Amino acid sequence: TADLAMYQAKQSGRANFHIYTPELEQQANQAHQLELRMRRALKNGGFKLLYQPVIDIKSGRLAGAEALLRLEDNDDEPIGPNSFIPIAESAGLIGQLGEWVAVEACRQQEEWMRQGLKVTMAINVSPLQLRQPAFAEKLGRIITDLGADPSYLELEVTESAIMENLNEAIEILKKIKSLGVKVALDDFGVGYSSLSSLTNLPLDKLKVDQSFVQHIERDQASRAVTEAILALGHSLKLDVHGEGIESENALLYLEEHGCNQAQGYWFSRPLPPNEFVRWYHEQWEAGASSSGWDRLKR
Ligand code: C2E
Ligand code: MG
Ligand code: MG
Ligand code: MG
Repeated sequence: TADLAMYQAKQSGRANFHIYTPELEQQANQAHQLELRMRRALKNGGFKLLYQPVIDIKSGRLAGAEALLRLEDNDDEPIGPNSFIPIAESAGLIGQLGEWVAVEACRQQEEWMRQGLKVTMAINVSPLQLRQPAFAEKLGRIITDLGADPSYLELEVTESAIMENLNEAIEILKKIKSLGVKVALDDFGVGYSSLSSLTNLPLDKLKVDQSFVQHIERDQASRAVTEAILALGHSLKLDVHGEGIESENALLYLEEHGCNQAQGYWFSRPLPPNEFVRWYHEQWEAGASSSGWDRLKR
């Protein structure tokens, strides 16, 4: 697509400003190897999704799962998305990869719903993918084909993706919402949103960037930003979600300030599907009569 071509031109344009060095050659070579590995993985099932629990703070119950992508083919160490998503984008693979993620996450959601595990499935979408023509239509078709429940689906888009072209983004998000899917603004607070533009966006949720949550205990500025985001989100009638919770204190702080949902290593790392189900049963069925904090503790 035009967007993709422009992006690639920008990428290679940038590279041309560098002076040729052996390190650069090595980097380019590594990127190329990773691209080949991704192409193989797309054919051979080398991508996996892990699922990280999302907890509703008030009830202490499981609210959802965030699907997080891994490149996990047999021959090498598994790789996380921060290393390969940018390469997938510049290699023109993000459309295909994003589609695989949507299909797999919808398939898993349908399976879990059928088993009575009602979790809202959150799917991350790259800016390039979001702006591909007919993105919403494609998503709608995937949901229908797999029999997923759109009211238990949520797309996570980043601030930068939205703010690059606000009007275009509003139209795309409206189409997504018309499918019955929820929209969350991810990594909120580190981008460049104009606050007034937030009022025009059809959003359901703000996810406070984990850099703030992680420093809540030690850093007054992080607390100030977190509280400001909570106030802003709630006055716009949005749910606010804290991610990167690594301690009980961080969780208690967020609870005290009315944060709606929580996610982080303190609850659980991202898990393969079978371990996610096991984790759920251990947490919730062990003491089915009560709910809340006590049984959330590891
Ligand atoms: P994100 O959407 O903000 O996801 C949260 C990241 O924080 C995940 O890293 C997760 O494993 C990590 N995390 C969760 N809890 C904690 C915690 O308590 N402490 C710390 N230090 N980290 C925590 P991951 O899986 O490496 O993903 C990184 C980013 O890659 C994601 O950030 C998201 O932007 C992107 N990504 C992941 N999956 C996909 C995907 O399927 N498609 C696209 N386009 N991007 C994806
Ligand atoms: Mg996310
Ligand atoms: Mg995030
Ligand atoms: Mg992030």
